[in-house]
Parts: sequence; structure tokens; C-alpha cells
Amino acid sequence: MKQIRCKTFADSAASRTTTGAEDGLVNRNRKKRALAHLAGYFFATALPLAAQGIPQSSPPAPTATSLWDTAALAREANVWLAQLIQINTTNPPGNEQAAAKYVAGILEKEGITPEILEVAPGRNAVVARLRNAAISDPARALLLVAHLDVVGAERARWSVDPFGAVIKDGYIYGRGALDDKSMLAANLATIITLKRANARLNRDVIFLATADEEGGGDASIKTLIARNWDKFAAGYALNEGGEVIMNAGKVRYVAVQASEKVSVNVAVVAKGTAGHASLPTKDNPVAHLSAAVSKISSYSAPVHFTAIVRRYFEGLAAISDDEIAKWMRSLETSDRGEHAQRVISEANPEWGSMIRDSIAPTMLNAGVRPNVIPGEARAILNIRLLPGDPIDVLLGELRKLVNDPQVRLDVQPDGGLAAPPSSLESDFYAAISKVAAEEFPGAPVLPYQSPWATDSAQLRLHNVQAYGLWPFPITGEDLKRLHGDDERISIASFNKGVDVLVHIVSEFAVAK
Ligand SMILES: [Zn+2]
Repeated sequence: MKQIRCKTFADSAASRTTTGAEDGLVNRNRKKRALAHLAGYFFATALPLAAQGIPQSSPPAPTATSLWDTAALAREANVWLAQLIQINTTNPPGNEQAAAKYVAGILEKEGITPEILEVAPGRNAVVARLRNAAISDPARALLLVAHLDVVGAERARWSVDPFGAVIKDGYIYGRGALDDKSMLAANLATIITLKRANARLNRDVIFLATADEEGGGDASIKTLIARNWDKFAAGYALNEGGEVIMNAGKVRYVAVQASEKVSVNVAVVAKGTAGHASLPTKDNPVAHLSAAVSKISSYSAPVHFTAIVRRYFEGLAAISDDEIAKWMRSLETSDRGEHAQRVISEANPEWGSMIRDSIAPTMLNAGVRPNVIPGEARAILNIRLLPGDPIDVLLGELRKLVNDPQVRLDVQPDGGLAAPPSSLESDFYAAISKVAAEEFPGAPVLPYQSPWATDSAQLRLHNVQAYGLWPFPITGEDLKRLHGDDERISIASFNKGVDVLVHIVSEFAVAK
């Protein structure tokens, strides 16, 4: 393992040489010292926001919100984020219980009563509510959602301990620094601010920390909704999924997720005669599978524009350079449309995925020994459907293309469900857009249909107007670290995001 010298864990190398019996105490002390250090760091050395290219908030209006010192709050939230990163909730197995207890402890200290819900053994969610009246009106309530689990980290490929919450160059590093512990800490900060300010709410504000988002399995929000919907039923929700995109030190645009593609796995199964490799046969399933996967990979599904994608490209064209803007505006024209779709897809794989069903072969499985022809070979295709596109139509096309009686395409049972998009006319969308425009002047606010899936689809299926917005300004380079190596969040961005989130929620949920 690489030795790391850094601001917070300068003593970590020493602690690694201790015996197992000392480990617990040393780790606790190490964490305590690290966090004391962390708090000092934020107070003493954080660069002013403007100096780091993060625009500062507009001066607060003379409302209840101006009573809230979001800068001080963000410093507290920095510590929560760091401590949450240090609780390893890699999924599988998840082990969200420790993180759930930690979050519940913070809420309790603030006089907000949390409830820890068991979704599966060792896997928990946390729900807490600020009421606006003795009797709740779920249709008006606002739900703040974030997930407790993270994807795994390949330690050897990281330059720092993925669960160390190391601070370097103005960033907090760690698995979950972006996805989704930053959102979790910011949601905590928001509900705590409302509570401390004794804000007069016009609707209930509900905090929800979920388990198994990355797995989407038995401990996920699906199960939680089936069992405990009454505990967090809401008409509106804010979740991960949209972004504040920064480039060359400037926020370029704000993408508010209002819809998402649907993930479906399909197995490609080739069958043939098993036998000795010294006697090759024409029906060798490895060869048939390879040919099928190759044909499927070259397939490009027809382009469909949803209202959200249309508005996204219109808005993006207005701030893009002339050449790309020209193609964005030509996407649906009869003469240049097809060429424009190709140019756009090549310029950015995300744009390509936003306009059509996409297919990515992700797994191959065949053979037991080098000298045995196997009887079966399998591949997995991860397909992302535009919401509303049926899988059967696409599979029909792929079967025609493969045109091989030895090859079968089987839809796997773990697919997502298509949900209707959230409205772009709702009061909450208007509140998000208003605050985002104030906080990031000059950056257009665009509706966004994400190529990836979030918990919001399940909420939309329960008539929730759910939107995705990570409020932290982020560069494309840092976004690539999400689910990758050296995941990190800029402290200035995190602090700005906390401020933005508090303002969005107070705009929508605090009585004027
Ligand atoms: Zn996430």
C-alpha cells in the first residue's frame, strides 16, 4: 500500500504499525485528531469562494433566511461529510446501519426525532420530519433524499485512503465524497438549519436517507416504499441526479433532472455442441456469441426526442460555441438531422445516450478449459431505454440483426421501471429554477433527462414530482471520478452547494 502524507492523517503511517489490539483506540484517536484538524482547516485556511472560481451567493434578502449563517453551517457539514466517508458503506454488502445510526445521532442532538427503519438485516434507512401542522398533508410535503451506500473502491488505484476523508488541495477525497454522501450531509444541514431557525413552514419537510441505491436490490427504496410509504409520503422530492456544471472556473449551466432512462439487462445466450477443442465445429457457441455481440455493438437505435431533451438542447445551444450550437439546433431538422445526431453523439457520449436507447455489452462468460469447446456462451448487455420505449421493440430489431437460430436474447428480471417525467410547470421546479438562477447568475437552468438511473424513478411512480440536483458546482473532470478512482469534492463547491440547497428548500417550504 502507498504511504500517504497529508494534512489530516499525518499520523496515519504511525497508526498502521500498531498491534491489532491497539487498533480500535488508535483509530478513534486518529479520527478525533483528524476531525479537529479538519475543523481548524476550514476555519483557518479555506480560500474565499471567489478566489476558487465559485460564485458567491447574492446578498440574502431581508427574510428569515438572512438569519441563517450558511457559512458556519457548511463548516459543520464538512465534518459530517468527512465522518460519513469514514463509515465504509460499500455496497455490497452495504452495512448502512452504522451510517444510519450516525445520521440519526446528529438529528437527535438537534431535537429532530429520527426513525431508523430496517429494510434488511444490517441495512437501514433513516427518516425524520419537520412538521408545518399537527396533521400532515402528504401531497404538499417536500422530501429530501440521499443514499447511505457507496460503490466499492479499488484501494490500490487510489492515491489516498478511499475511506480516510483526506484533505488535499482544497478537496475532500473519499468514496462517496460526491455520490452521495455530499448530498446526504447537505440534506442534514438543510433540515437542521430549518429546525434551528424555528422556520415557519408552509409544508412538511422530510429527510430520508436510503440504503442499497447502488444495488437497487431488496434493501432499496422500492422495498422501503412498499413497506413504509406512509412515513415519507410526499408530493415533491429533491434527490441526486442533476448537476451544476463548471468549466474554467465558471458555472456554465444547471441541469435539473426531471426524468431518467431505464436500465434493463439482457442476456445473449449462444448454444452449441460441447466437445474436444482439437475437433472444431461450425456451431461453436463462443464464435456465435462473438459474432452476435459484434453485430449488436454496431447497432444504433432510432432517435426519439422527449420534451425535456428538446428543452435541454435548446438551452445548451444558447451557451455553446457556434459550431456545436449549430448542430444542436439542427438535431430535428429533416435535412441535417441525421448528421447532427451523429456529430452530437460523437462530441459527447452523454448527449448520444440522451437521444436514443443505448446498448453496452458489459459481461462475457464462456468456457471451462482451454481445450474444451463449451456448450454455451453468454454475454450481458446493459440497455438504457428512453422512458416509454418498450424493450420488446428494441429486442425485435436486435434479433433480426443477429439472425442466428443458435443465439437467444433473454430479458433479465432485475430491470428498472419507466416512470413518467416530473412536470416542468410545478411550483417546486419553478423554485429550484429561481434560486439556481440567483445563485449562478448567467448560467441557464435546463431540464435534464439523465442517462443514469436514480431512486427518483420509484418516487415518480408514486406521483411524486421528483427532481435531481446535486447543488455542488462540479467540473467534467471531477465528475469522471464518480464511481472511479480518487473521488473528491472541492470544499468550496460543497459549501456553496449547502448554501444553494438551504435556499432552494427555504424558497419552497418556508412561509413568506
Ligand atoms: Zn448516487
